[in-house]
Amino acid sequence: MAIHEKHLIRPENLATHDNLVIDGVDVSGDWSTFIRTRAVSDYNEDLQVEIAALPGGEYIHRCWQCGSCTNACTVNELNPDFNPRYWIYLIRMGYESELLRDKDIIWQCVSCNKCTSACPRDVVPEGVMKATAHWLELKGHTATSPSTDFDEIFASQVFHKGKIEDGSILTGFMKRSGQPLIQDWLIEMIKGMLRDLPIRFLFNMGWATLFHPKTKNWGKARAAIEEYVAERDEAHRIALKLDKSVDLHGHHN
Ligand code: SF4
Ligand code: SF4
Repeated sequence: MAIHEKHLIRPENLATHDNLVIDGVDVSGDWSTFIRTRAVSDYNEDLQVEIAALPGGEYIHRCWQCGSCTNACTVNELNPDFNPRYWIYLIRMGYESELLRDKDIIWQCVSCNKCTSACPRDVVPEGVMKATAHWLELKGHTATSPSTDFDEIFASQVFHKGKIEDGSILTGFMKRSGQPLIQDWLIEMIKGMLRDLPIRFLFNMGWATLFHPKTKNWGKARAAIEEYVAERDEAHRIALKLDKSVDLHGHHN
């Protein structure tokens, strides 16, 4: 029987026959191309292992494809192509080329974690989305996302100073993402802060912006964190079979 819910199939996966009769039966209409005999030969048998090696992807093997994550997903409500259950299926099967068809939307996960709450198998689908987006960047399939840029600037400040300073993070992110620092929403936010926040808090923020204080005796903690990060980077490099030209923080040299 030809399909009726045509909008659920990608246009490139539709075969339309205006006048098709087989064995005397009129089967004209729209058909999904999945019924065509085909051989898939470009599996990446290590795809699940690669995603599982990245932070957030560790529990992908638990998925039993119930679809609760996609049903609960905030972004799927707006864009039906955003489908965590399906991507997890593709990763577990090693269908890398099929996964890459959605490479430009996977990063759009807003980390609301509704999927994580709904998942009966503790897969942490939000983490899998993060790991997949990171995998796409490390493999050079996508440019570094604004989210990764922000994470890097945030982490770098914690590593170096043992604390964060909102103004520096904001200016660093705007600079890296090529955005002007003066924006309408920012002016409104600052007006709100001046109106609603205690003077002492504003003073502390201004002080930190000017003098960039560090946490006391941060040196040892910093060395330990850097050692840990270097270990993890090396483990990721090995798991993803990346050569030395790839900066593990998402930038290809
Ligand atoms: S965390 Fe991401 S994948 Fe999960 S429900 Fe929210 S937007 Fe969807
Ligand atoms: S809710 Fe959990 S078990 Fe169900 S499809 Fe999503 S990730 Fe898999």
